[in-house]
This record gives sequence, C-alpha cells and structure tokens, in this order.
Amino acid sequence: MSDLLSVDAAVARILERFAPLPAESIELLASLGRVLAEDIRAEINAPPFANSSMDGYAVAAADTAEAPVRLRVSLDIPAGSFPTEPIRPGEAARIMTGAPLPEGADAVVPVEQTDQGWRSGDSPPLPDSVGILKTVRPGDSVRPVGEDFRAGDVVLPALTVIRPQELGVLAALGKTNVPVVRQPRVAILSTGDELIEVDQPLAPGKIRDSNGYTLYGLIAQYGALPLRLPLVRDTADDVRRRFQQALDLQPDIILSSAGVSVGTFDVVRSVLSEMGEINFWRVNLRPGKPLAFGQIGGIPFFGLPGNPVSAMITFDVFVRPALLKLAQRPDTIPMVTAALAEDVRTDGRRTYMRVKLRRDGDHFVAFTTGTQSSGALTSMIKADGLIIIPEGLETARAGESYTVRLLGTMDQRGS
Ligand code: AMP
Ligand code: MG
Repeated sequence: MSDLLSVDAAVARILERFAPLPAESIELLASLGRVLAEDIRAEINAPPFANSSMDGYAVAAADTAEAPVRLRVSLDIPAGSFPTEPIRPGEAARIMTGAPLPEGADAVVPVEQTDQGWRSGDSPPLPDSVGILKTVRPGDSVRPVGEDFRAGDVVLPALTVIRPQELGVLAALGKTNVPVVRQPRVAILSTGDELIEVDQPLAPGKIRDSNGYTLYGLIAQYGALPLRLPLVRDTADDVRRRFQQALDLQPDIILSSAGVSVGTFDVVRSVLSEMGEINFWRVNLRPGKPLAFGQIGGIPFFGLPGNPVSAMITFDVFVRPALLKLAQRPDTIPMVTAALAEDVRTDGRRTYMRVKLRRDGDHFVAFTTGTQSSGALTSMIKADGLIIIPEGLETARAGESYTVRLLGTMDQRGS
C-alpha cells in the first residue's frame, strides 16, 4: 500500500501547478455565471432620488394628523417626471409609484386610503382636492435616497459569481462591460480504437464515445469552456496529431481519457512522454487508481481512466479543484454527512461509492446505487453523491456516518 499516493497528496501536487487566471472585460449579458475580477463600487445612489413606493398622494405627514382631512391637489407627478415645484402646507401632489417626492412632502398616502379610489384610463383628470382617510407618518410609502446602495459603497466584491441579481445590479450601475476572471479553456480528447462517434452505427467491438460528453458537461457545469477534439486512434501518428491540435487551441488544461493506465497496450503513453512530461500515479482511491498528470507543451495534462464512471469521479476529485482554482471560483465542493443504510465492503483504498440520499428527520441516509461497476454510467444518473469510505477500512457498517460529496452544485440539487 505504501507505493500508493494518497488522494490528498495527489490533489495538493496538482494544485501547485495551477495559478489563478487573469481578468478580461466582457459585455454585460455575457458575464452571467462568470466570476467578477474586481470590486464594483457604486458611483450613484440607488434609488437616486426619494420616491414613492405606492400610487397615491404625496403629503406632509403633519397635515394628516387630524385625518380625515381634505388637502388641495397642487401637482401631478407621473413616473419619469421630476417635480420642479414644492407642495405647501395643506397641499398634496398626485404621485405614481417610483416617481420623485416633491419638496415639502415626506410621506405618501396610498390611493386606497383616499376618497379618490383607483381611476382607470390613460390620464384620469387631476382632482382639485383629495380626502385623506388615514393619518400617515413621515417616511410612510417613501423609498429614501440610497435605500438600496449609496455612492461609494462596494456593491459587489471581487470574486462574486454573477447570478441574475448581480446582473441586474450591474445594469443599474450602467456597466456595459464587466471585468471577469478569464474562463478556463479545457481541451478534451478521447482515445481508443474501439471508440466511434455518436452519429456512427455500432459495429462489432465498437462503442460510442461517452467520456467526451460527460467531461464536456462537467467542464461546462463548473464554469469552464470545453473544447472537444476528434477521437484519437491508438497509433503514434494520430496521438501526436490530435494532441498537437489540442495544443493549437491554447487551452489551460488538456484532458484525455483512456489509454494511460498501467498495463494497457497503448502508444499514447510513449508519444505523450515525447511531447511533454507525464507522471503515472497510482492513487489510493477507488475507482480510478491509475492517473496520469504532467504537462504537454507546457500545458497541464490529466490522463483520466477510460471507464466512464472512473473518468467522472477522477474528474470530480482531481480536475474540479484545479478548475475552481484557475477560475478563482469561491464555490466549495458541497459535502454532507450521511449514515450508511447497509454494510459495504471495500479493499482498503479510499472508496467513492455512488449513493442516493434520503432525508430522515434532520439527517441523511445513504443507499448505494446498486452496481458499483466503473463501466455502469447509469449508476451516476441515480446518484446524488459519492460517499467517501476512508482508506484503511475493509468494511463500513450500516448506521456509520461518512462524508458525501454531492455531485453538481448545491443550488442545482435544490434541497
Ligand atoms: P482503457 O483506459 O483504455 O483501458 O479503457 C478502459 C475502459 O473504458 C474500456 O472498457 C474502454 O472501452 C472504456 N472507454 C475508454 N474510453 C471511453 C470513452 N471515451 N467512452 C466510453 N468508454 C470508454
Ligand atoms: Mg484504450
């Protein structure tokens, strides 16, 4: 067991090779889902002027102390206009939601609390006076200047992930372009003579490339840009040609699946060693013990196992943390603790088992998804996460609690 590298040591060695990517400026709408590279400071107050939160009548609250009272209507303030005259004691201004309060007013009486009721129509005539039915206090139904944020405030700190609400705030601030961390570019190669493309008919001995698609999805899911290349044949020329094509895309990572495991007859390993420096690690985990990591033409390279589940799990364990570091994403990998529903046997390696979670009161119970074959991709569809049985154990018993690494992000899984 001593010749095996621990998962944590492997992740640490990988992360050493990655540095955060620099910033770039992109168009506002394109920034959704990206990571802000700089603090965004407001240059304006929001709202920029005190305004009404209701359709109604702007008044001096003091004038309503003896309600019901009747006030003279001296002004009309529709949305989008700005009052140039004040109201005087004993006067009111008809005002629409969002319209600025006139000088002299410090509260709004909603139309429902007047004798005017709601008049439909484009521009109901302005009444001469309005009956105020209820007393209001200063500030009632008024949104003060800077209620949302004030000029000078850091409204969005650097490294915020831009969600719909951040997009809206950036729009309110007038940012047509946004400084974001450059998106990691990841080239994906699938190797093996048995592989055919998705649009090809099956033939004896052939299977369709699925790793090219699961890896594409994982890369996109964690905010990076997947770049899929044609299938790589098990010949030195083809390996050289396709990996050169990958380098030409100027990726931040080159990811390949299959063809790098110890004991497989593969030209991949020898060609890659000519093009860069590849280390073959035997990592103390299951599934996915063999892992290649190094560089090709100076670009960090991961050679993941070929088995579809192993490829996904080793991506999650080794590649996902590297992507998060490159993209400066604050998202941590979501974990929960769950009790095993059944006894499970392992072989002493750290084991990531596919489990379905069920809530039982205030804790989770983990059920294995049945077959843990690393070729059974549909087991990943059933799984909510991967329960981690630590190294050194051979049996884990029903009722014992272990950490579960959730697949996907917390917000995608809901509760
Ligand atoms: P290898 O790492 O080349 O020994 O492949 C291990 C297993 O994964 C074999 O059963 C391969 O057929 C399978 N495999 C390799 N690449 C892919 C792929 N891109 N899509 C689906 N299965 C694959
Ligand atoms: Mg192969």
